[in-house]
Amino acid sequence: MDKYLIPGDADWRGIGVIPDSGLVLKKEFAMFDAQDRLGVTIGAGREHPGCICGEVIKGKCTPVDCPMFAKGCHPDHPIGPCMVSAEGTCAAYFKYSR
Ligand code: SF4
Repeated sequence: MDKYLIPGDADWRGIGVIPDSGLVLKKEFAMFDAQDRLGVTIGAGREHPGCICGEVIKGKCTPVDCPMFAKGCHPDHPIGPCMVSAEGTCAAYFKYSR
């Protein structure tokens, strides 16, 4: 990884951009950057206005503080990213706190 990548800014869902928290291709390998080569534009993510995943993953609140937890949002119908995968904080709460 050290041969091809260097630390770079990354935009984390629910958190925002954290300097040097991601990995980017070194300039000498820029010709392999699919985003540039294919002209891919990554737009801003769409998040449900009531989802508090950002606060959950920052540890500022727990999933049960979200009014949609286990109501409109559950693993079979995730509203936010924390409920999508089994590793998500809200999904783990849903599975093990019931
Ligand atoms: S994933 Fe669902 S339960 Fe978790 S914060 Fe977002 S909307 Fe609330």
